[in-house]
Amino acid sequence: MGIPQNLRVKRVQSWLEENGLDGLLVSHLPNIRYLCGFTGSAGALAVLCGEGMLFTDSRYTTQAQVEAVAVGVRVVAGEAQSGAAKWVRSAKARHMGFESARVTVAAREALGRSAGPRVRWHPVRSCVEAFRSIKDAAEIQAMREAADLGSAVLEEVLPLVKPGVREVELAAEMEYRMRRRGAEGVAFETIVAFGERSALPHARPTLRALRRNELVLLDWGAILRGYCCDLTRTLYLGRAPAKVRRWYQAVLDAQMAAREVLRPGASAGRVDAAARRILRRQGLARYFIHSTGHGLGLEVHEAPRLGRGQKDKIQAGFVVTLEPGVYVEKVGGIRIEDDVAVTPGGIEVLTSASREFLQL
Ligand code: ZN
Ligand code: ZN
Repeated sequence: MGIPQNLRVKRVQSWLEENGLDGLLVSHLPNIRYLCGFTGSAGALAVLCGEGMLFTDSRYTTQAQVEAVAVGVRVVAGEAQSGAAKWVRSAKARHMGFESARVTVAAREALGRSAGPRVRWHPVRSCVEAFRSIKDAAEIQAMREAADLGSAVLEEVLPLVKPGVREVELAAEMEYRMRRRGAEGVAFETIVAFGERSALPHARPTLRALRRNELVLLDWGAILRGYCCDLTRTLYLGRAPAKVRRWYQAVLDAQMAAREVLRPGASAGRVDAAARRILRRQGLARYFIHSTGHGLGLEVHEAPRLGRGQKDKIQAGFVVTLEPGVYVEKVGGIRIEDDVAVTPGGIEVLTSASREFLQL
């Protein structure tokens, strides 16, 4: 399955050989963290065939020495990336990959200046990201714990879902409780949307107060030991109309259908299609306006994407969300989102918050 931390730099080095490059400059901080364990907010990692070197600034001298695994550490005065480029030049590397999806045009120009004309820079779209999509046992354990933490928060806030509570208040309560339970932070800004606002898949919490007979959509996630969880639950304050209950059941059935298809060897597109098929049968296909899920790990959105027509094959070690939804403008939306690890023989659902339609 995944690559244990101490072997990740080596894995990049074999990738370099396979791809005819002398090195890769890693700029994306989650990729740096994945490869060498460094969690600081500024750094660049140069991986050459023979060695890896982490560049950072003096704020991180101690931290980098403590955290960095399988690479050397250099503290530089200016930009970490320029320091790395100068080192690459002195190591006489000629063909360097850089993370083209992560580097600004200005930073790319600075690389050219620091490394000089003898170094050729080759865009690399996805190297570390592909390794990261397959989690090792320690990563899955961290994600299990993050999912438990996220799941527990729902129980805690249910008593607060009452007439008059504001979206921002409920969001704050959820974030506070994640922190109290040990989260290092939130994986993204908590979404709390009441009534017709729940039809906005990425609603920002507002001062809107909850009234009786309204939908409540909650989408929240915690970071624990660097790893994210990401959950959504939809509740109803009062007894929901039959139509809304039917929508809820359809979304839940869609998630179950996606779960049944999610296993090693299936294409990502087939998982998405399974969820979409159920909603289509219920006449709800046009209300499902996003993809069925996304990879989850050090970042809340990472490879793979479980979307329409995606050809990528599902592999053991993937951790993905399954989050079908229906969104009816001016009426409301329903989404149910869980985190699922793909195992060699099937799946393990990591999130345990109740999926029953809670009508409070
Ligand atoms: Zn979410
Ligand atoms: Zn999500």
